[in-house]
Amino acid sequence: MSKGGWSCPHSIDGICDIIKKECDPGDKGCVLYGKALFSLESSPSNEAFEKRMERKLQKIMQEKKSKTTS
Ligand code: SF4
Repeated sequence: MSKGGWSCPHSIDGICDIIKKECDPGDKGCVLYGKALFSLESSPSNEAFEKRMERKLQKIMQEKKSKTTS
């Protein structure tokens, strides 16, 4: 039974069926890696998330720039 608002379908008795070790949300290989910011500052997801957002912002800026110059 789930104790929180979200439970990962990859967690089987606390073991991740993707990374083959104890569930560690935001770790490399986790479905949340790079997709969410975690309150735990040392989460590897945070840096990947920020890089992803930077790339997304740059893409938006380039699209806007090309629309204004065409
Ligand atoms: S590590 Fe990520 S993908 Fe794996 S069970 Fe935990 S939340 Fe799900």
